[in-house]
Amino acid sequence: MIKSAVGRLTFAYLAILMTLSLGFTVLLYNISMHELNQEIRQPYSYELVQPGLFLDFGRFRDYRFNEARRNLIENLVVINIGTLILGSIFSYGLAKRNIRPIEEALEAQSRFAADASHELRTPLTALQTEIEVALRDKKLNLKDAKAQLNSNLEEVIKLRTLSDRLLKLARDDEKIEIKKFELQRSVLKSINQVAPLAKNKNIKLVDNTRKMQVLGNAQHTEDCLAIILDNAIKYSPIKTKVTIESGKDKEFGFVTIVDQGSGIKPEELPYIFERFYRADHSRGKDGDVNGHGLGLSIAKNIMEAQNGYIEVISNPDKGSAFTVKLPLPRKK
Ligand code: ADP
Repeated sequence: MIKSAVGRLTFAYLAILMTLSLGFTVLLYNISMHELNQEIRQPYSYELVQPGLFLDFGRFRDYRFNEARRNLIENLVVINIGTLILGSIFSYGLAKRNIRPIEEALEAQSRFAADASHELRTPLTALQTEIEVALRDKKLNLKDAKAQLNSNLEEVIKLRTLSDRLLKLARDDEKIEIKKFELQRSVLKSINQVAPLAKNKNIKLVDNTRKMQVLGNAQHTEDCLAIILDNAIKYSPIKTKVTIESGKDKEFGFVTIVDQGSGIKPEELPYIFERFYRADHSRGKDGDVNGHGLGLSIAKNIMEAQNGYIEVISNPDKGSAFTVKLPLPRKK
């Protein structure tokens, strides 16, 4: 598909170039012929002719005229062949250059589709196997069936989270409304979202944030903070603490979420915002920590769409600090 697009674009560029070149050739030919006609029709001065030399001026004039015309045509043909050869190379290069961003976008899209279907396939296969085994079990009683349904429900909830996240990523170029909002309110709402998870692991959420107005989108910021808080809880051992601080510098207001979890190795840090990337410790020896490697790439997209960004400092085995920054409103 890309190859034929490059071919078509090359042909289109070349057609434009050759139309211009041929148009210019016709124009040049007509002007030159007109000039030549004028030149040749000038009355000849006999003084120029050497005494005793006989010249048939009519024939000589026609001969010179035809020779000049032939030279002109030859030059114009050579110029046009040159334009065709160089133009083909140039048009191909230009077409390839212009198609490259589209090619990259298509590649990214098909990689995304492949990764997404791979992520969906694993839990769906597990679900299918569980259901098939349960259906084959002739001695299945109501208690077992309920336990089975509960386990299936857990898988379905995970699949729903995954499909919600995939949808969010697919819509990452959606325009979002940006206005002044109270950052602390978004922090509180995101803490409420993850509070049950923290409770399950006996993790204490310490909120030290203060009121602060920033420029951005309250709902999207809440989603982003919930992702980071969710990770802080997921990647921390039980009975630890997650602290949420806030502050501001010259241009930005920020919220920092500090955990006492597994931390991230320096060599893995550059990749954690990539789609589907999961660091080694997420696939531990005691089984995978729930996740698909999509949370942080969504969080990053969300922040960039609001002219903000995320910073990370992490120490393996000690913990991580994720800072979310948003522009401060301009003072009037
Ligand atoms: P996942 O669904 O795997 O959590 P994310 O995109 O949210 O995906 O995070 C990418 C990876 O970054 C995770 O798999 C994990 O290895 C690492 N990570 C993110 N947050 C933390 C954290 N607070 N502590 C340790 N590792 C983290």
